[in-house]
Parts: sequence; structure tokens; C-alpha cells
Amino acid sequence: MKIGVLALQGDFDAHRRRLEELSAEVVLVKKTEQLNEIDGLVIPGGESGTFLKLLGEDGFTKLKDFVRAKPTFGTCAGCILLATDVENPKQTGLGALDITVRRNAYGRQKDSSIREGRFLNEPIEMVFIRAPKIERVGEGVEVIATEGNDPVLVRRGKTLAATFHPELSDDWRIHQYFLDLIENNRPSY
Ligand code: GLN
Repeated sequence: MKIGVLALQGDFDAHRRRLEELSAEVVLVKKTEQLNEIDGLVIPGGESGTFLKLLGEDGFTKLKDFVRAKPTFGTCAGCILLATDVENPKQTGLGALDITVRRNAYGRQKDSSIREGRFLNEPIEMVFIRAPKIERVGEGVEVIATEGNDPVLVRRGKTLAATFHPELSDDWRIHQYFLDLIENNRPSY
């Protein structure tokens, strides 16, 4: 099983390290042709508008086909890319998850913070960096983690999206959850 981490920009290396700690074989995806070699993909945080620019039209189409067919986990900017509806400002999404996401939703003062949320009803540390907010969760999209009253990790089938950065906390549960999804297992913790 090979897991790709989209490595166009952003904090892809922290995802690579975490997945390798969990014994996954990781491929850094720098060209969309590499999508053919992998069984699942992580789209890291960064700047979603920059991702769109770097992908270009052709890359966007290839990525769109991939995320509709194969397990994908988007964190922060990755979550924004996976959404059907993006606001503040409006932006094209890959449409893999029926959610409305508001970019940079916490304002300047709360630009970045570490807060405690709940993942499958267990407390967990969450690192937010210029985080988006999931403002609408469409039918069939399940909320897996919350922070206060906000959904912060959602899933439909094998598509997973987090508004925070699990790769920056010293906790492997969320990446393990994604690997378990890919392997069709029940969560192993
Ligand atoms: N604010 C970024 C965006 O709008 C996301 C921030 C992040 O990925 N940490 O794309």
C-alpha cells in the first residue's frame, strides 16, 4: 500500500514523517502523473489558492478524478480544496465532500492556536493555523471530531477532511484512522 502526500507546497513533510512512523510507504507527489501509483493521498495545509495555481487546469482535473475515486485526507488548505463550496473569498473546490468552508474564519487575533477538541468522543489536541471553518455539512457527511460546537474533522466514505493540523501534534490517532479507512479496517485503537 502506497500513500501519496501532495508535495507542491505547504507542510507535506510532517505528514510524510507521521505516516512513515505508522509504517506506511510514502510517495511525495510532485507531479499529478504520480497519482496513478498510489492507493491514497494526503493533501496538506498550505495556501489553497497557491495549490490551485500550481496545479493548473490539467492538474486540477487529474486530482479531481483521483479524489472522487480513491481515499483522500485533506488538512486545512487540503480540506478547503476537497470542499464543494468555498467562501471568503469564493474559490473552486474539487467537490469531493459536500461541505461549505469559510477560509481564514477565525480572524487575525486567533490566527493560530492550540485547542482541545474531541475525536470520536476522546479529547485530542488540535493545532489551528489560519484555519477554515466548516459552515455547512451536507447530507451523508459524518462529523468525526469537533472543537467547541464546530465540526473540525468530517468524512464521507473514504474522503476525510480536517480544518486543523494533526501532523503537528504528537498524536498519531488521526493518521491511523485514515490508514485504517484505506485498508478497510475498523479503527485499530
Ligand atoms: N488559510 C489557508 C487557506 O485559505 C489555509 C491555512 C492552512 O493550511 N494552514 O488556504
